[in-house]
Amino acid sequence: MVVERAELFLVPLRLRESFATSTGAALEREILLLALHADGGVGWAECVAGAVPGYTPETSDGAWRTLTERLLPAIVRSEHPVVPSIATEPMARAALEMALWDLDAKLRGVPLCVALGGTSRPVDAGVALGLMADDAALHRRIAGALAEGYRRVKLKIEPGRDVAMMRAVRERFPDAPLSVDGNGAYTLDDLDRLLPLDHLGLLMIEQPLPADDLFGHARLQEVFRTPICLDESIGSPAQAERAIELGSCRVINLKPGRVGGFDAALEVHAACVARRVPLWCGGMLESGVGRAHNVALATLPGFTLPGDLSPSRRYWDRDLVEPEWEMTDGALHPSGAPGIGVRADRDRIAALASRRAEVVRPE
Ligand code: MG
Repeated sequence: MVVERAELFLVPLRLRESFATSTGAALEREILLLALHADGGVGWAECVAGAVPGYTPETSDGAWRTLTERLLPAIVRSEHPVVPSIATEPMARAALEMALWDLDAKLRGVPLCVALGGTSRPVDAGVALGLMADDAALHRRIAGALAEGYRRVKLKIEPGRDVAMMRAVRERFPDAPLSVDGNGAYTLDDLDRLLPLDHLGLLMIEQPLPADDLFGHARLQEVFRTPICLDESIGSPAQAERAIELGSCRVINLKPGRVGGFDAALEVHAACVARRVPLWCGGMLESGVGRAHNVALATLPGFTLPGDLSPSRRYWDRDLVEPEWEMTDGALHPSGAPGIGVRADRDRIAALASRRAEVVRPE
């Protein structure tokens, strides 16, 4: 396969509602999309870096530069596309690697889920709800999510909006499948104060401590019966192995963009399956393009828990793909079409883009 041309688009897309976590609030998402053209096919992927640092230090601006100045010029010059590893910018690297996966699957005529070693099984959907103005608003949204059929409801927490908030939620929804996500906002000094969370029947407590604190998470997991789930801490297969070895978590939230692409994601998956650590696929407020990659990955057998895989309508008035993602019986269904299985609407993407770049193979 020889990549003849690469197109990059930055599309500002307004969320249907603001999404607030302990690291900040977003009302708009800068969707960074990559299209690779080769042998009559087009492979698409989405770079999940945010407009500003927060979830990780990586930004869409930095990823834009890395892709346009370094990765894309190299890929259009090479006879056999190989993506170099870039430890500091896994999300930029992942976009290129995952676009190549889509392209390759399309050229071979196989669905991406099958190319990755999964199946076309439906994937259970969970919803992540951001911090809300008050308990009443939160309870309304939880009731709505459960009525829509989501198989799990994850709530963002931060210091000061945690134990009391979750006690009230549990009282109002005694049987709901609930989890919480701290996005690294706590320290071990909060341990005693957070202990009541352990008695609320939560499915898991996600990333309470900062990403680099594997020892702290191991200490928490010793004390808590509720499984600790790691997200930001898992930046590579080696970190996943280390976290499992140390006992830092009993569940892993895997996002392919965060670990540098599908090759690394498959390694994390294999490590988790070997150690019987259940996985689920997280979300980064993706458009339907990134969602397609996530759904394909989440069909692998180790993904036994509902992912943050909402339908398009959860985030966007109108998605950038056709058909849009829909939820049926609390699950998303991968299409049987080759590659990502949904059509990225290139004309609309180009029309909405605030920034475009094209890198062409030299004559
Ligand atoms: Mg998370």
